Amino acid sequence: MTSAAVTGTAARNRRARRIIVMMGAPGAGKGTQAERLAEALGLPHVSTGELFRAMRKSDTPLAEQVRGYMDSGALVPDDIVVAMVDDRLTWKDAGSGVILDGFPRTVAQAEALDGMLSRVGTAVSAVPYIEVPTELLLARLTGRRICSVDDQHLYHVVAMPPKEDGICDIDGAELYQRVDDSEETVQARLDKQLPPMFEVVDYYAGHDVLFAVPGDQAPEAVTGELLRLINARANG
Ligand SMILES: [Zn+2]
Repeated sequence: MTSAAVTGTAARNRRARRIIVMMGAPGAGKGTQAERLAEALGLPHVSTGELFRAMRKSDTPLAEQVRGYMDSGALVPDDIVVAMVDDRLTWKDAGSGVILDGFPRTVAQAEALDGMLSRVGTAVSAVPYIEVPTELLLARLTGRRICSVDDQHLYHVVAMPPKEDGICDIDGAELYQRVDDSEETVQARLDKQLPPMFEVVDYYAGHDVLFAVPGDQAPEAVTGELLRLINARANG
């Protein structure tokens, strides 16, 4: 094979590589949709949660550094998170692209991602944003109810209500709400997480790669719309 042919193949591969960044608030269904898109598009679903868990078992210098922060309870700094993602993008299964979930979390991370991608001649190709009104996020995130006898008996007041209000279908025990799921706690969490997420959404909107999909419809409908828009971008 001539070097020109090699260069040509490399250029085609670069064009075909799809870097998809999932955006959405907690409770928007981002993880579920990322999983479905990964399957439909044949790309790995790379969530930062999973990357952090993988670092627990890995023995690279980077993993050791990450464990140091995690064990001390400190926040893992941006440059380390960026290095983790950078490394993940070099894995063989990421050759045709990835679906990133949980990264970037800040504009600084988004800029770092752009930098690392441009070094290998590529760029973020699409940023699907699953948009859900805050009231609905609250309803979803505060709706969980747990059986007071068996914590495997889970309900949701909207998505999976018990037959009788506040009573477990299986054993008739009372249902309760975790403190973590209380409106006050959830609202405080959203107040902290939403502003930086909106900044990242604005960043990508400014780079013309963002598209919003309403998340207040059936999950299958959200997936369908996401796929249609992603494929339209790839072919357009
Ligand atoms: Zn029960």
